[in-house]
Amino acid sequence: MSETAARKRQQSHARGVVGEICDEVLARQRFLLTSHARPDGDSIGSQLAMAYALDALGKDVRILNADPAPDHYREFPGLDRIEIASTAAGVDADALIVMECSDLGRTGVAGLEGRFIINIDHHVGNRMYGALNWFDESAAACGEMVFEVIQALRVPLTYEIATHIYLAILTDTGSFHHSNITPRTFDICRQAVEAGVNPAAMARGVFDSNSFGKLKLIGALLDAMELADEGRLAVLDMDDAMLAACGCTYNDTEGVINLPLTAREIQAVVFFKVASNGDVRVSMRSKYDVDVRLVANGFGGGGHKNAAGFTVPGPLEAVRGPILDRLVEAIAHGLQTRPVP
Ligand code: 5GP
Ligand code: MN
Repeated sequence: MSETAARKRQQSHARGVVGEICDEVLARQRFLLTSHARPDGDSIGSQLAMAYALDALGKDVRILNADPAPDHYREFPGLDRIEIASTAAGVDADALIVMECSDLGRTGVAGLEGRFIINIDHHVGNRMYGALNWFDESAAACGEMVFEVIQALRVPLTYEIATHIYLAILTDTGSFHHSNITPRTFDICRQAVEAGVNPAAMARGVFDSNSFGKLKLIGALLDAMELADEGRLAVLDMDDAMLAACGCTYNDTEGVINLPLTAREIQAVVFFKVASNGDVRVSMRSKYDVDVRLVANGFGGGGHKNAAGFTVPGPLEAVRGPILDRLVEAIAHGLQTRPVP
């Protein structure tokens, strides 16, 4: 099947699922929304856009996450609605909407099983754990899919909904850098701006809201950065001591991984974060067709072609070599199809 035929089939299938999601949403009253642990802009934006849309329909809505949102999102509308807890046991709801999670374990929240689940996600490898599953890997952000559901529900695009949809897209495309951006992405953003979103304020709020401590952390990380594969691969290392020295928390690392990609030669970045329990959290970013998701899959993780991650037991010295080897292979493969702007 050609790529276009495959996409058309996926889209016609998707229309059916979106219709079913609407039917179930309209028929049910009490909703619990959740997304992945260590939330990012797409998980926060998708959940809050959905929450505001459900409000508009007169539904009862709770949002429950395992971890708080990064600090600089606190001024976005509705952030105080998100409850932080490691279990949903005892939460009374007749539908659970899980966004951005390839499996329920990604939520970091216990007590979700056995409920009526609507699963909306764009991560390849989604386990289809819901009663209704809408998976679309062609979506640049889960927020694009949430937008489609909200439209199908005929909920007007308010400023709050538009803000969160735009937040989801702005962050999950790496500020319009990743290779899965389509005309649909810009069409949704156009509608968001028409609804009152200010792109300059969004970009400043999301990307230019660092603390001084974070600037120090960026300096320390880039100063210690190593290059491999003749400068095509950047390697960043961090541990809790480095965070403490800069007065930072784990949340302050968000976005730092993208900085090495601003060097022309660098095609991929890997960021090793050694946690206090010895586990190594590995984040990767890449340009064009360098597929870091395939690397993540090899170590039990996932993500997207240009942004992926996983966690492995330490020590770092034992895992570092094999991970770098796989990345060098991915770069060699991806460079063959590098487009010219
Ligand atoms: P980040 O590096 O920002 O933590 O994650 C980048 C992307 O990879 C995100 O889309 C995230 O959902 C995905 N990802 C990160 N860690 C994991 C993981 O442990 N398992 C899976 N399945 N996906 C991950
Ligand atoms: Mn996403």
